[in-house]
Amino acid sequence: MDLLTTGLVVLAIVAAAALAWFVFVRRTSDVARDITVPTGLGGRLSRSRDTLAKALAGAFASGPLDAAVWESLEEALIGADVGVAASTRIVERVRSAGPASVEEARRLLRAGVREALGDRSREVAGAGSPCVVLVVGANGTGKTTSIAKLAHVFERGGSSTLLGAADTFRAAAGAQIRTWADRVGVDVVGGQEGADPASVAFDAIQAARARGKDYLIIDTAGRLHSKQNLMAELAKIRRVLEREAGVVGEVLLVLDATAGQNGIAQAREFFATAGVTGIVLTKLDGTARGGIVVAVEEELGIPVKFIGVGEGLADLIPFDPDQFVDALLEGS
Ligand code: GDP
Repeated sequence: MDLLTTGLVVLAIVAAAALAWFVFVRRTSDVARDITVPTGLGGRLSRSRDTLAKALAGAFASGPLDAAVWESLEEALIGADVGVAASTRIVERVRSAGPASVEEARRLLRAGVREALGDRSREVAGAGSPCVVLVVGANGTGKTTSIAKLAHVFERGGSSTLLGAADTFRAAAGAQIRTWADRVGVDVVGGQEGADPASVAFDAIQAARARGKDYLIIDTAGRLHSKQNLMAELAKIRRVLEREAGVVGEVLLVLDATAGQNGIAQAREFFATAGVTGIVLTKLDGTARGGIVVAVEEELGIPVKFIGVGEGLADLIPFDPDQFVDALLEGS
């Protein structure tokens, strides 16, 4: 390579890097900038928090920090849906540090729960133009509501969004997503009941491109005649999106936090085909036990990116482990 060619190659690399920075970093930070966490996350998690606080108070009430305390502590965490493996590990960490007082043990416990959540990236990818967000999950988990809430997050952050209604199996799905889209103020591209979902995805991406949208969120069926059909359909939608968009920015799996371990088992079914990149954990405000966040990440190895804490449009918030652990263990 002569000097001129080398110079041109370097210039092209620098230009590509600058463009990538502009498209990805600027877009994600735009979104992040305007996401405000509802005040009083602790209030939303109050049922989880109170149950856990009571169990922990019970565990620590027995006096000296002995084997009985560690056992009750482990039971309290398992009872909060933290999962057996993580609960055992967290308690072992507290015990082996040899806390001299209950206060110290509580501090270590908090640190242990926080550590269990790790430091994975929880940002929404901005890759692709438009950035395609494929949303999968079983019916009833809160998929439709979460899609609307997510569109609201993007729009509020200044990113234009289009919805693709590719659940053509359930008669009401299209109408339901349109009602939500009207509330958010975004358009929907859909198809007739029974239409090929992959062709709806194809139409949606063409429309998103033609209209210069930043994000395209695609809804998918949560149930078909058989599980094999459902997985084959998801794989086909994914193939079409990859072919048309080059890359699928995010595949978000919606999980109902109140389903506990059953939800985790159900999630595994989606993994192999859908290539899940993040979890949306819904209904944490209800009767769910907050520790499920730890179990989900531990057992699925995928970051929780958003949590649902209510039925309103603003009730989907980016998952922040520090804030969450503080809210969950408030008063513990
Ligand atoms: P889909 O069948 O998975 O599309 O589920 P929907 O989006 O229709 O939601 C099912 C029900 O769960 C609806 O009544 C929603 O209002 C409710 N829901 C969804 N997310 C949340 C949440 O974060 N908190 C609460 N309390 N309810 C939720």
